[in-house]
Amino acid sequence: MKLTKKKEIDAVIGIECDCCKKEFLTEDIFEIQEFFHIKNTCGYGSIFGDGNYLEVDICQRCMKKIIETNCGNVESFIKESEVYE
Ligand SMILES: [Zn+2]
Repeated sequence: MKLTKKKEIDAVIGIECDCCKKEFLTEDIFEIQEFFHIKNTCGYGSIFGDGNYLEVDICQRCMKKIIETNCGNVESFIKESEVYE
């Protein structure tokens, strides 16, 4: 027989963009699914510190601005998907 007891858990209800600080609720599926979740364990020589863990959530609009500001024309980084061919 399974032993059970009631537990409270934290459920994710949305994501806050680490750039613009806008909150997107999980119901806003089109924005949520387009978030960029960057996670990296930093290694030796990293400017973020050896062994540190970097995690950033960026909405699609902020990512577009970051690319345009720092890399140039965002269109040159967009490739057609091969998934639907
Ligand atoms: Zn944003």
